[in-house]
Amino acid sequence: MAIDLQFDRQHIWHPYTSLKNPLPVYPVTHASGVTLYLEDGRSLIDGTSSWWSAVHGYNHPQLNAAVTEQLSKMSHVMFGGITHQPAVDLAKTLLSLVPASLTKVFFADSGSIAVEVALKMALQFWLAQGNPHKTKILSLAKAYHGDTFAAMAVCDPDDGMHSLFRSQLTPQLFAPAPQSRFDGLWRPEDETSLRWLFTQHHQEIAAMIVEPILQGAGGMRMYHPRYLQLCRELCNEFNVLLICDEIATGFGRTGRLFASEHAAIAPDIMCVGKALSGGYITLAATLCSDQVANGIGGTLMHGPTYMANPLACSVANASLQIIASGQWQTQVSAIEQQLKTELIAAKNLPQVADVRVLGAVAVLEMMDTVDVALCQRLFVDLGVWIRPFGRLLYLMPPFIISPQELRQLTGALLQVAQQPIFTSQPPLPGA
Ligand SMILES: *Cc1c(COP(=O)(O)O)cnc(C)c1O
Repeated sequence: MAIDLQFDRQHIWHPYTSLKNPLPVYPVTHASGVTLYLEDGRSLIDGTSSWWSAVHGYNHPQLNAAVTEQLSKMSHVMFGGITHQPAVDLAKTLLSLVPASLTKVFFADSGSIAVEVALKMALQFWLAQGNPHKTKILSLAKAYHGDTFAAMAVCDPDDGMHSLFRSQLTPQLFAPAPQSRFDGLWRPEDETSLRWLFTQHHQEIAAMIVEPILQGAGGMRMYHPRYLQLCRELCNEFNVLLICDEIATGFGRTGRLFASEHAAIAPDIMCVGKALSGGYITLAATLCSDQVANGIGGTLMHGPTYMANPLACSVANASLQIIASGQWQTQVSAIEQQLKTELIAAKNLPQVADVRVLGAVAVLEMMDTVDVALCQRLFVDLGVWIRPFGRLLYLMPPFIISPQELRQLTGALLQVAQQPIFTSQPPLPGA
């Protein structure tokens, strides 16, 4: 039976869309490797890894085996008062991959919740230290940390979510987005503005939260490693905890296992998600140091129903085993080289404002906001799955993509970037 698109259109919300005037959705029946199969028989090369997550591709034999094996033992048991092998194994593997100063793991059920838990840890830490004045979080303009309320409050202060919910969001502090590019020279004004904020406000700042090196859904901006080092130095100098949100960047995406390695720093608290479970089932985690955990002392006030779900932990274990084998390094550096070579031509296109590549991420920043529905149709007609937002056309393919398949993605990107794709409508928040 065909997927009921009319029912979908009338009754189901998709991410960041309106039910009154929904964007079209494409019915997918199955997926394998880097290919999504549409109901009408067409197939699409995936340029998104289903939002950073499916790094090993779809329908992966090892990941499938991990889920099915666990399924026959138990799908879920509560984590309150119970533990199990998949959770213990996953925590061990995670701790073996992250900086040695991170020693404790909290399993969360999505990235946004991992951010909530990180913020809670930081606030609770200072309360337990007898310092009730450190209640603010310092974040960056153009940041994205999730869709729940505390996470929204540390997202870019001018974007749609913020303006819509302004009166409901805890006011936080924001530094300007870093101006020093990853591939450019260090600009001292970045230090001036950040240091000023620390100097003025450190007594009220509990933690600084950053997406290391790559600001993702808030604008796909890649900034200078010196900036991240500076965050670490200022946090040390002014007694502020540093939270690295590696939910998008973790597990090899930027060419390092974690993006904070570009700056050779370790955070006090770290969030991981997205690729953690290889694109199979929602799972995230918040890690922290002994110092933070001991400082909190008492009970950490959080405990989701599906905490450390065994199916999710098992598939995450299988996914991290593939990551730990290290083959992502060759894959990501080959992808980076090819993206640079094939997309450099886009710099000269009149509609393109900027081209950025880091690891297995490529961004064409266009001169104006693009029409998402139109772009998607053009991409689907070219046999690729690429979902633009705002002024950005971007790629973050599964690491297993072949050079031929990647060439199809870059070719489609270059072709669509030359079409009349700009919309006169104001962009939907987050669309
Ligand atoms: C996607 C994302 C989140 C939120 O994760 P969800 O699983 O969608 O809740 C938080 N931070 C960053 C950097 C992300 O990219």
